[in-house]
Amino acid sequence: MSLSFGLPSEAMTEAEIITLFRESQALLEGHFQLSSGRHSDQYFQCALVLQDPEAASRLGTALARCFKTPREISAVVAPALGGILVAHEVARALHVRSLFTERVNGQMTLRRGFSLRSGSRAVVVEDVITTGLSTLETVRAVEATGASVVALGALVDRSGGSVSSQFTIPLHSLLTMEAKSYLPAECPLCAKRIPIVKPGSRS
Ligand code: ZN
Repeated sequence: MSLSFGLPSEAMTEAEIITLFRESQALLEGHFQLSSGRHSDQYFQCALVLQDPEAASRLGTALARCFKTPREISAVVAPALGGILVAHEVARALHVRSLFTERVNGQMTLRRGFSLRSGSRAVVVEDVITTGLSTLETVRAVEATGASVVALGALVDRSGGSVSSQFTIPLHSLLTMEAKSYLPAECPLCAKRIPIVKPGSRS
């Protein structure tokens, strides 16, 4: 497994961020069967770090500090469900509103009376960004209101950094990791007969 880091934050050192993820078991290393059925040397579940409100607040503050022009930002928007807590904590640090989009008939939409003023500036954040699809759909939902998205943020970029090429908007991540997974028949950890763990199971 390789780990590298995004922009340094004033609020937390890189070591503190990774320690938070490891101590909460949001980040595990070993031999895992993922929900997709594929095998990996790494398991990542952001909800396990965000279940601690103190940790969520520290991470949100660290991510908020990556945005260079916070005074221009009037709202933080995230796709439900994973991004909601992150948007909430980033918005708390920036003293702006926190909104979320959700899928309605397959379309990412701002519901519940959430609105953005035409011409205002927002940031879109996620807990984990992998393909960038839900981030992209949330950007479109924001732009449909006449507001613009000036920056993107994620606690963890699981694409190893490659996902940022999908966007014309700068992406800031606290942590960048490359998610490697294997078909069971091609898994090097199985070849080494390392016992496999299914995260989330009680057995
Ligand atoms: Zn395996």
